[in-house]
Amino acid sequence: MAALVVGHKNPDTDSVVSAIAVADLMSKIGTPAKAISQGPAVPETEFVLKKFGLSAPEVVTSVAGQKVILVDHTDLSQAPDDLKDAEVIAVVDHHKLGDVTTSSPLLMWVWPVGCTGTVIKAMYDFYGVELPKNIAGGLLCSILSDTVIFKSPTTTPEDKKAVEALAKIAGVADPAALGMEMFKVKSAVDGVPAKELVFRDFKDFDMNGKKVGIGQLEMIDISMLDKVKGDLAAEIAKVKAEGRHSVFLLLTDIMKEGSEMLIVSDDPSVVQKAFGVAGDKSVWLPKVMSRKKDVVPKFEAAFKG
Ligand code: MG
Ligand code: MG
Ligand code: MG
Repeated sequence: MAALVVGHKNPDTDSVVSAIAVADLMSKIGTPAKAISQGPAVPETEFVLKKFGLSAPEVVTSVAGQKVILVDHTDLSQAPDDLKDAEVIAVVDHHKLGDVTTSSPLLMWVWPVGCTGTVIKAMYDFYGVELPKNIAGGLLCSILSDTVIFKSPTTTPEDKKAVEALAKIAGVADPAALGMEMFKVKSAVDGVPAKELVFRDFKDFDMNGKKVGIGQLEMIDISMLDKVKGDLAAEIAKVKAEGRHSVFLLLTDIMKEGSEMLIVSDDPSVVQKAFGVAGDKSVWLPKVMSRKKDVVPKFEAAFKG
């Protein structure tokens, strides 16, 4: 039975393409594997899959009794709900280590870089497996997306090197232009229901026993969200009422390089503790681009203190 390769809930481009790539690589080195996804592809991912002729993984949300390879996450709150009844045989990731544990030894490639795609490029090199052109194109886009075309503070020299190498394999002459094309697709929010926008890139975290949801919309210009901001605020209040202590929605302006954060919380003082800026409903956070690097660690500390 093929191992199932799966990224996080509310999958982004990295989670989808990494599942496809790791399934390809593992199958070629003797572990038959199949990419799955915990949800449908968002517009940015659809654009990338179409551009490089990759097919979207089947949407599967139950993995009980299966061998599983996790990509782009190790937090149980982001994994399939019945992961405890599966066997995790490998992890490929670039986040803080989460709360997934295993009963047997496993293969782990976890690097502090900007994207799982960067780790996967190194894996293909390590195992001496040739990277297919279409998968190289997908990985290239994953890195450009996760690092916000190298503007995110999560960007490392390894990510830049990987992009250069992947662009050659994929035959992409101008990766930055491709990145902008992708972010234009991502910024097209007209007519999209607020609920869909909130969950496009949404992750739950356990912070000192409290369930905290953090969503993010990365836009070329956040003034494009002015019309829907009220709806977004109303929507995150609903999401919080489902049993969360707090929900934060980052509206990230990739050109201004900062984020407006919409807040709904049982204790809004955590925002003041985390960022030194008081705000009940929203705050502007200059230079805050990355949920992973600029936001999650600060909230983790604020929730502990
Ligand atoms: Mg991701
Ligand atoms: Mg990622
Ligand atoms: Mg992202």
